[in-house]
Amino acid sequence: MLYVYKFGGTSISDASRIKHVAKIATDKRKKIVVCSALDGVTEKLIHLAELASRGRETDVTHLIGEVNSLHSTLLDGAIASKEAREEASKRIKEVVEHLTVISTACARVREVTPKERDAILSCGEMLSSPILSAAITERGADSLYMTGGEAGIVTDDNFGDAVPIFEMTYHNIKRKVLPLVESGKIPVVAGYTAKTQHGDISTLGRGGSDYTATLIGAAVRAEEVILWSDVDGLMTADPRIVNEARVIDEVSYAEAREMAMFGAKSMHPRCLDPAEEFGIKVRFKNTFKPEGSGTLVKKSAKISGAVRAVLLVRDASAITVKGTSMVGKPGSAASIFNQVAKTGTNIMMISQSVSESNISFVVRRDGARRAARALERTMLSSGELASISVEDDISVVATIGENMKGTPGIAAILFRALADRGINVKMIAQGSSEMNISIVVDEIDGIEAVRAIHKAFGLDLL
Ligand code: ADP
Ligand code: ASP
Ligand code: MG
Repeated sequence: MLYVYKFGGTSISDASRIKHVAKIATDKRKKIVVCSALDGVTEKLIHLAELASRGRETDVTHLIGEVNSLHSTLLDGAIASKEAREEASKRIKEVVEHLTVISTACARVREVTPKERDAILSCGEMLSSPILSAAITERGADSLYMTGGEAGIVTDDNFGDAVPIFEMTYHNIKRKVLPLVESGKIPVVAGYTAKTQHGDISTLGRGGSDYTATLIGAAVRAEEVILWSDVDGLMTADPRIVNEARVIDEVSYAEAREMAMFGAKSMHPRCLDPAEEFGIKVRFKNTFKPEGSGTLVKKSAKISGAVRAVLLVRDASAITVKGTSMVGKPGSAASIFNQVAKTGTNIMMISQSVSESNISFVVRRDGARRAARALERTMLSSGELASISVEDDISVVATIGENMKGTPGIAAILFRALADRGINVKMIAQGSSEMNISIVVDEIDGIEAVRAIHKAFGLDLL
C-alpha cells in the first residue's frame, strides 16, 4: 500500500517544524512526499517578478538575498549532519543562482513573460524540497528530492495555470517515481512545479501543491493522499473568520470540489479531479495534531445535514454588461462568456435580469480588468454592448452541501439570517447541481454574512 503525503508551507516553515514533519514522513508506510514552498515564499517570488517587470534591479537583488538567507538559516537550524546539509546547501545555491540570472535579465529589459514568471515562482518549492529531503535523510531514511517536471508532470504551456497532460503525466510518474519507492526510497517532490512538452518550467496555479499530490496519487493508485496542513481538516468555515467552525468528518468529492472552487483552504480548484476519477481517497490532516482523523474525501461519504460549509471569497469583482441589443437575441450571453473564457478567467457566478438587458457575473479580482478589457475591445467597440462596469468592493459568500438539493426552506433560512443582521444581498445564484447557493454582498459585510449563515444552520453545533 502506497501513500502520498503533502506538506503545506506552514508545516515546514521553521526548523522544529521541519524535524516534526520529517518524523511523520518516516513512519512505517511506503510513501511519496510532496512539499509546498515555505510559508509566504510564493508571495515573495510574485513580488520579485513584479519588481523585475518594473526594472527595479537593486530591489530584486535585495529580495533574492532575503529568500536565500531564509532557506540557508532554516537548513542550518534543521539539519545537524554536515553531509546532508552540504548537499542541500549546494542545491539551494544552484536554485538561487538560477533565480538571480532570470530575474536580473528580466529587470534589465523591464519585462517578465509568463514563462519567465513561472521560472521565478517555481523556485519556492525547488528551495524547500531539498531541505525536507535532507531532514528525512537525517532520520536514517533514504530520501531524494525532485522537481515536478523530473517526477513526470507534463503540462500545456498555459504558464501560471498550466493544465496537466494527464495520460502522459500518469505514465511518466509510474515510470520515474514508482521504482524509487519500490527500492525503499522516499522521494520528495517539489509541489506546484511541472514542465511543458518543450521542457520549460511551468506551474499548476496557486495552491498547486495539492494538485501535484493528487496527480501523483492517481498515477500510482495510492491508498490515500494525505494533505497535511495547519488546520484539523476541512471545516464548516474558515476558522480565521468563524471561531466556532467545526471539522467535517467526511465529504463527497463533489462537495470538496465545490468547496475548493470557493476557496476553502486555498485549495487548487481542480485538485480533487484526479482523485475522483480513480476513486483515490484524500484526507486533510493537521501536522501539529497527527492523532486526529481529519477530514476524509471519498465516494460514498457519510453526509449529515443539508448545509455543510459556508465560504467567503474576498478577492472577487462583479462585472455588469448592459445593452438593449442583447434582448431576445439568442447567443449574446454565449459570446460574452466566450470572450471572458479566452482571457483564461474563470466565472464564479452569473445572473441575468428578466428584461435580459443586463448580465452580471463574478470573477476573481485579479482577472477582472483583463476580462473587462477583452469585452471592451470586442463587443463594446462593435456596439453589441452599450456599457461595461466593474465593481471591486464585493465578496461572494457560498453556502455548500450535497444534500441541499431537494431540501426545502434552505433559501428562506439563509436570507432571513442576512436580513436580521441588515445585510444587503446584491446578487444571488444557485448552481444547477443545487449544491451551492452563492450570494454577493458588499465587501465590508462579507465576514458578518458568513457568521450569520454559519449560525443560522447550526453548523457550530454539529
Ligand atoms: P497549506 O499551506 O497547508 O496548503 P493553506 O494556507 O493553503 O495551507 O490553507 C490552510 C488555511 O486555509 C487554514 O489556515 C485556514 O485558515 C484556511 N481555510 C479557509 N477555509 C477553510 C475551511 N473551510 N476549512 C479549513 N481551512 C480553511
Ligand atoms: N506555493 C504555491 C502557492 O503558494 C503552491 C502551494 O502552496 O500549494 O500557491
Ligand atoms: Mg495551500
